[in-house]
Amino acid sequence: MEGKIVVLKKTREIPVKMRHPWIYSGAISRVSGNPYPGDVVLVMSYKKEPLGYGWYSPKSQIRVRMLSYDTEEKIDEEFFFKKMDSAYRYRKDVSPFLGSNAYRLVNSEGDGLPGLIVDYYNGYIVCQFLSAGSEKIKDLILQYLTENIKLCGIVERSDVGVRVKEGLNIVNNVLFGEIPDKIKIQEKDVSFLVDIKKGHKTGFYLDQRENRYFVGNISHNKKVLNCFSYTGGFGLHALIGGAKKVINIDRSEEALKILKDNLSINNISKDEFEIIRENVFSSLRSYMELGESFDMVILDPPKFVKQTSQLKDGIKGYKKLNKRALKIVKPGGYLITFSCSGLVDRDNFEKIIIDSAISSGRDVKVVKELSAGLDHPYPPYLKVGKYLKGLVIRVY
Ligand code: SAH
Repeated sequence: MEGKIVVLKKTREIPVKMRHPWIYSGAISRVSGNPYPGDVVLVMSYKKEPLGYGWYSPKSQIRVRMLSYDTEEKIDEEFFFKKMDSAYRYRKDVSPFLGSNAYRLVNSEGDGLPGLIVDYYNGYIVCQFLSAGSEKIKDLILQYLTENIKLCGIVERSDVGVRVKEGLNIVNNVLFGEIPDKIKIQEKDVSFLVDIKKGHKTGFYLDQRENRYFVGNISHNKKVLNCFSYTGGFGLHALIGGAKKVINIDRSEEALKILKDNLSINNISKDEFEIIRENVFSSLRSYMELGESFDMVILDPPKFVKQTSQLKDGIKGYKKLNKRALKIVKPGGYLITFSCSGLVDRDNFEKIIIDSAISSGRDVKVVKELSAGLDHPYPPYLKVGKYLKGLVIRVY
């Protein structure tokens, strides 16, 4: 058979048959047809049985990202337009649950477009092309977006480390239109300003939206400590949900600057809303020493475990943080705690919480499990798709 072909080692076709979307370099026996980065290759088993098509990434450990398991399918422009259409249709279906004019329109493997992230922010789009294959279809994606969605501008935020692993350069570029310094978005009754050119990720932590709604709904009359606040996501929802006081802590000056602007656009008075620029670990220790306590503590730390070698230290960090937080929750109050490290799975995270509860001397019950919102679908075979794990814990 001619063409660009990747033949797997003996028995290594099983994950592909199970629809795992990644093929690691170690699973490959032979590559023929001299594929370039981002080319579509036919994947075959050791016995030369065709298994499907994927994008080839010669520089990455993830050597092939599967696009289709149907060997009859043509991977052409229409194939990609159809994927975009399906992703967009799904967001329209779930829009009543989103309650926002900012959402993830394409979530990489979760929408069958590996390495492509497209976030929509009230008339503006932020794209990330994180794989050699997605980089190659950039023009097609832009054509789809401009032809099908009424847009004022598009920014490319391919300014993340994984691009380097793919052999691609770091890009932060306006692709279309004029981009204001801040875009105003709405999550139910709360407004936020988002800096899509320089903010974290694509500007906002869209994955936490539904969890922010949850916090808003149980905050009535509570004194809330919002740790790792970024631009105030959980804090503003808590306050607008009726919290009597919210203290926000983050170490990023830029994030807190936007948080202050978010206060004024939501007409919130400074007395009910405190902002502290500090390391959360030290703030929690100070509250413990001062004997100050809260009805609700929110912990939404950055990714502590980016690679397997950081697992041990990362787990230690999560335990320290959760132990300190548990100590300052009033009896009958709540700890709402997250981990966005894909390498720490839910079982592991629960173990971390059990250990933290024991070492803090508090009795706890899990009230609810939280995860990324409906606009972040993932293939069930891809474990890291479930990167965001949260627990609502009642503390006694
Ligand atoms: N909860 C937020 C997102 C939090 S992202 C939302 O819903 O929008 C994590 C934040 O933690 C970032 O803003 C980062 O600046 C901050 N951060 C990271 N390490 C920190 C530390 N040790 N102390 C204080 N803030 C920290």
